[in-house]
Amino acid sequence: MIDFLNLKKINQVHRNELLKAMENVLDSGWFILGDHVSKFEKEFAEFCGADFCIGVANGLDALILILEGYKELGIMKKGDEVIVPSNTYIASILAISRTGLTPILVEPDIDTYLIDENRIIEKITSKTKAILPVHLYGRLCNMDAIKEIAKNHQLKIIEDCAQSHGATLNNIFCGNMGDAAGFSFYPGKNLGALGDGGAITTNDAELAKVIAALRNYGSGKKYENLYQGMNSRLDEVQAAFLSIKLKEVNEDNKKRRKIAQYYLDHITNPQIVLPFENRKNIVHLESHVWHLFVVRVAMRDKFQKYLSDHGVQTVIHYPIPPHKQQAYTEWNHLSFPVSEKIHDQIISLPISPVMQPEEAEIVCKIVNSFT
Ligand SMILES: *Cc1c(COP(=O)(O)O)cnc(C)c1O
Repeated sequence: MIDFLNLKKINQVHRNELLKAMENVLDSGWFILGDHVSKFEKEFAEFCGADFCIGVANGLDALILILEGYKELGIMKKGDEVIVPSNTYIASILAISRTGLTPILVEPDIDTYLIDENRIIEKITSKTKAILPVHLYGRLCNMDAIKEIAKNHQLKIIEDCAQSHGATLNNIFCGNMGDAAGFSFYPGKNLGALGDGGAITTNDAELAKVIAALRNYGSGKKYENLYQGMNSRLDEVQAAFLSIKLKEVNEDNKKRRKIAQYYLDHITNPQIVLPFENRKNIVHLESHVWHLFVVRVAMRDKFQKYLSDHGVQTVIHYPIPPHKQQAYTEWNHLSFPVSEKIHDQIISLPISPVMQPEEAEIVCKIVNSFT
């Protein structure tokens, strides 16, 4: 069986260092908001090129805390609108509705699966306060165009970087391409903890200060509460693990790129729509960190069964579009044809830093033999 993603293997590479980190935390006797979190926050801010990083409990909370932070600063209020791609993982959208803001879904581009910047402007109203681009599958959104729109309409840009750790364009890292960014360190992400974790990066000192308090009961100083905050802190032990794995993320992304390039060069089955290669803009391709290698196939379910029967594990990211979920019945009648087509046809092939070239070779052979 060729695993979709072997998390055991990914973490065994760091076994000795991770055990040592666990021992350090255990022996320190300090488990919440201590030196390991501060250290990782500093390292991760530097990694992204951002001034501030705040470690939090998970990626969903990271996005929620950014929006709550803007609410506390009086920049956003209940009922304001935030533009978000209609085909994203539901967490991006949950963060908006959870904070009392209104998600405005915008269709993706059928080639890149990223928010279609040409469709953003028509959705902007007097209530729009922010655009939340998602660098889905590890590919960067068209940030130049999004920045231009945000500037012209005075909107904040909140990047969802949960799938794009380390993606860069012209030497600018994601997490430093807008006003604030949310990251997830869920184990399967390009930078994954051994449990839940997340972070916010920003260059906005005021926002950083508010968020640092909000994640800790709204408290700046112990037992003095400035805001009605939440408890959403990155654990010391996860921060210690993340400091170790952060050192490898650029190398890991290179390994992912190698597998992706192999697939792009060797999958020749005409039924398979490969990820879009922007040949005119090579920089863009190089900036892709391939969190997922997503292809499109008209007979997706048959294809998935064929691969499974031949020992290749695949996953669908994601089978149901957010507007068709029971969680959002108010949207169920709406039509987002691009998203619906994507959700009907996409399937993710195995890719990870521990995948072997021989495995990629086998995957290509099996994919090519599907009729
Ligand atoms: C994983 C993910 C999140 C949520 O992160 P968690 O740490 O699981 O809460 C948010 N947005 C996107 C695009 C994701 O893939």
